[in-house]
Amino acid sequence: MALKPKILLHVCCAVCGTLMVKILRERFEPIVFYSNSNIHPEEEYRKRLEAVKKLASENQTEFIEDRYDPPAWYEAVSGLEKEPEGGKRCPVCFALRLGKTAAEAKRLDIRFFTTTLSASPHKNEHDIDRLGKMIAEETGTEFVAFSEICSDKKDSWRKTSEMSRKAGFYRQKYCGCEFSNQPRN
Ligand code: SF4
Repeated sequence: MALKPKILLHVCCAVCGTLMVKILRERFEPIVFYSNSNIHPEEEYRKRLEAVKKLASENQTEFIEDRYDPPAWYEAVSGLEKEPEGGKRCPVCFALRLGKTAAEAKRLDIRFFTTTLSASPHKNEHDIDRLGKMIAEETGTEFVAFSEICSDKKDSWRKTSEMSRKAGFYRQKYCGCEFSNQPRN
């Protein structure tokens, strides 16, 4: 049987990764990559990290943690602190994490990468896909768009929510950065 190609899967949180890891496994060998220097405070970063480690272990996938580097994140979004969630700060935040994922994929000689960011109903998957494709072109890698993984976002979110509840994964109450740390309606 032919070996499946590896894919570096950027995972923002275990909840968003629950279904995607399983779908990706049908075509790829996913490697979970946790690169989320946006998360504040560190205690919250660690809670999400532990949940993602559990997700990787339950799916028997390799796990890699990137360096937690909040100063680099604050520098990247400098001047955009007052933007609302979904505003101009977010594409910069996505690009930083996708860029780190592409660079790690390149370092490991893995052709494909993607992200669980698109699974969230709070995020625009088309914008993330555009950014991913652009970064892939710049780095000589290949970005697998959300539409190539899940055809029905609403239904996949419903399944993800159910499965992650059953698995008992930690569910955060805000996107991640200190500027988004307001409970959602
Ligand atoms: S709201 Fe979320 S996506 Fe936007 S900058 Fe903050 S952590 Fe990043």
